[in-house]
Amino acid sequence: MNKRLTVAMAFSVALICAAAAKSTAPVPLPRSNPLKNTERENQQNPTSASALFSEKKLPSLGRAMAIGYYPRGCLQGGVELPATGPTWQVMRLSRNRNWGHPDLVKFLERFAPLAAKATGWKGILIGDMAQPRGGPLPFGHKSHQIGLDVDIWFMPMPDRVLSKAERENVLASNVVAADGKHVDDKTWSPADVAFIRTAAEQPEVERVLVNAAIKKELCRVENGNDRWWMSKVRPWYGHDDHIHVRLKCPADSPNCRAQPPVPGGDGCDKSLDHWFTDSILRIKIPEFGGSSAGLKLKDLPAACTAVLNAPANPASAATEDRSQPR
Ligand SMILES: [Zn+2]
Repeated sequence: MNKRLTVAMAFSVALICAAAAKSTAPVPLPRSNPLKNTERENQQNPTSASALFSEKKLPSLGRAMAIGYYPRGCLQGGVELPATGPTWQVMRLSRNRNWGHPDLVKFLERFAPLAAKATGWKGILIGDMAQPRGGPLPFGHKSHQIGLDVDIWFMPMPDRVLSKAERENVLASNVVAADGKHVDDKTWSPADVAFIRTAAEQPEVERVLVNAAIKKELCRVENGNDRWWMSKVRPWYGHDDHIHVRLKCPADSPNCRAQPPVPGGDGCDKSLDHWFTDSILRIKIPEFGGSSAGLKLKDLPAACTAVLNAPANPASAATEDRSQPR
C-alpha cells in the first residue's frame, strides 16, 4: 500500500461515525450497556481526553466556537438541543450527547419540520450530537467532537412522547440488506429518499454520510436533472440505520478546520463500485476503531485545554438540571 493511500485511509478512518447496530425492529436493550463501557474505559485510562471530556456534564462559559477538526477538537460555549420538540425527539438521553454549536441546534430545529413535511413522518429521532464541551467520545464515534455532527435515525418519530426507557432501548431501523449490497425492501421506503435529500439540500450542510448500499439506491432512483445535492451524500462504513449530517465550519469559529470539499458530480460513478468489493464488504466497523478513546489532551488543539478547564455555563442547559451526575 503506498504512503498516500495509507494516509488517505487513516484520514478516512478518523472520520468514521458510528458502529451501527444491525436490527430491523425494536428489541430489548443490548446485553452490553454502552455506559458500562464508558465507565470501564475511564477507569482504565483516566487521563485520556475522552475520559476528561465525558466527565463534564455542562458546557464551558465563553462564546460558542467549534475548535479543531471534526475527529480532533472540542466545543466552546455549546448549547443543548431540547430532548423533545414539536417534530423531534432525542434518543439515548443518558449519554448526554445532545449538545452542539448553536448552528447545529438551529439547523435541527429548522430541519426537523422540513423533514417531517417531506417524508410524511411525525418528526425525526435524533441520535448522538456532541458532549457538552465536545471532545473525543469514550465510545461510538471518531468524529462528533466539535459540535457540528449529528446522527439522525431511519425511523419516523412516533405520534407520542417516548419514555426515557424507550429512548434508551429502541433500536433504529436498519435499511440495508444483509449482503450489504442493496437496501432492504422490508425496511426501506421512498420517504427515506426524501429524508436524505432534505438534509443534503440545506445550505449549511457540508455532507451527509450513508451506507454505500443507500447511496447506490439514491443513484438508481434520483436520475433526473435536479440532483446537485447528491454530491453531498457520501458513502461510508456502517450508517445503515442512521444518516450522519455534518455542518460546515461556522463563521464565528476561525479555528474550525474545514474538511476537504466533496468531489464534484453526483458520486454515482465507478468510485462507488469500490464499496461493493469483497474486501470492503468484509470490513467490520470495530476494526476501524469505534471511538477516539486513545487520544490525549495534547493531541487536541491547545484551546481545548482551556475549554476543558473553563467554568461551566448552567444557563445553556435546555431541559433539565445537568449539573448532577446521571
Ligand atoms: Zn455520526
